[in-house]
Amino acid sequence: MEPPADTVERPYCAWCGGERAAGDHTACDRRLASVDPPRHCPSCARRMVVQVDPVGWTARCSRHGESAGENGFGG
Ligand SMILES: [Zn+2]
Ligand SMILES: [Zn+2]
Repeated sequence: MEPPADTVERPYCAWCGGERAAGDHTACDRRLASVDPPRHCPSCARRMVVQVDPVGWTARCSRHGESAGENGFGG
């Protein structure tokens, strides 16, 4: 049975693409929670195609599909 998409483990940092377990991503999280959209897929660390518009952002992983948000990824 497949888990729902929003509970899939996210081993990678969505900002820098590094393994979350391998370093300190406090600064990355702060950026994501404030103004910057994610650049990397948190599930596979692939670079995502990111589009920013006045109300938020859309980021697409070629493998995991699209995610979207308003004013950051951290919420
Ligand atoms: Zn990071
Ligand atoms: Zn992905």
